[in-house]
Amino acid sequence: MYDIKETFRANSVPEALELLRAHPGAIPVCGGTDVMIHLKERKLRQAALVGIMDIASLQGIYLEQTGDLFIGSGTCFDSIYQNPLARACVPMLADACNQVGSPQIRSVATIGGNLCNGAVSADSVPSLLVLNAELELTSLEGKRVVKAVDFHTGPGKTVLETDRELLTGIRIPKASYEGHGGKYLKFGQRNAMEIATLGCAVNCALSPDGTIRDFAIAFGVAAPRPIRCAKAESLMLGRRPTGALLKELRRAVLLECAPRESWRASLELRTQLIQELAERASRCAIEHAGGSLDD
Ligand SMILES: Cc1cc2nc3c(=O)[nH]c(=O)nc-3n(C[C@H](O)[C@H](O)[C@H](O)COP(=O)(O)OP(=O)(O)OC[C@H]3O[C@@H](n4cnc5c(N)ncnc54)[C@H](O)[C@@H]3O)c2cc1C
Repeated sequence: MYDIKETFRANSVPEALELLRAHPGAIPVCGGTDVMIHLKERKLRQAALVGIMDIASLQGIYLEQTGDLFIGSGTCFDSIYQNPLARACVPMLADACNQVGSPQIRSVATIGGNLCNGAVSADSVPSLLVLNAELELTSLEGKRVVKAVDFHTGPGKTVLETDRELLTGIRIPKASYEGHGGKYLKFGQRNAMEIATLGCAVNCALSPDGTIRDFAIAFGVAAPRPIRCAKAESLMLGRRPTGALLKELRRAVLLECAPRESWRASLELRTQLIQELAERASRCAIEHAGGSLDD
């Protein structure tokens, strides 16, 4: 059923990178929840697979000395959702991880695989975008850091050099979560085992006078790649959160999105979801940041 030419299991990042170099075209596998589907559907043939699931350095979540939160790329969604640090620092991301697939999927599917498959519907990505996450890409030549917002280049496409690089970790700056409130909302036709028809994440912080000090909004499935809406964000800064402001936001985000029709949703539905999720996620994020809406 699976057309697999050979398999390897690496115990360290250098070993995995050496295997990728020695076997051109080989594919890293972590949770395998995407790769195995591709094999089953015979989109992958004569595959050479490099298992990276045993690499200890890709697992876990910790605070760096700077207070930035580091998440190993091989950490599965359930481990992120259950992790006290993740829940305390980035509850929005922890909740997003808990909305992926089913308990069985969440216990093996990893945040690194969710980024590297380039899916525009990936549930962890909008939260990573609004948290200004940085992605650590490692090759045999060294490391480079790419902002999550610059990682996706199109449907299923990223800047990862798949033949010679691994995503080794995700760093969330302290300045992006401390004093902030956030919310990820996913719309699907049902609650479980559902790929997002649309996803929206908002992260914000308020000044002591109640005005908006920091505001970030990102969407999945609202354009050919996950996006932030920079112009809409600047519209919010320094303003008092009101129902009227959120109506302005609804119109502003549409100008930066490029939704399309698909079998999951018509263009009209996606357009409505963009506005509705932007408003609802913003309301929640403002409340989580300690504010309230003056209507
Ligand atoms: C039944 C089912 C339901 C699902 N539901 C959802 C859902 O609701 N929301 C959602 O977002 N996704 C969903 N998915 C998709 C999938 O579970 C995720 O995309 C998952 O996060 C992929 O992680 P993985 O570790 O399984 O990746 P893998 O299958 O191991 O790899 C995926 C891709 O990323 C590459 N890769 C993996 N790790 C690395 C790394 N560290 N460095 C470089 N390349 C790497 C692989 O080479 C491969 O190309 C679902 C999948 C299934 C089968």
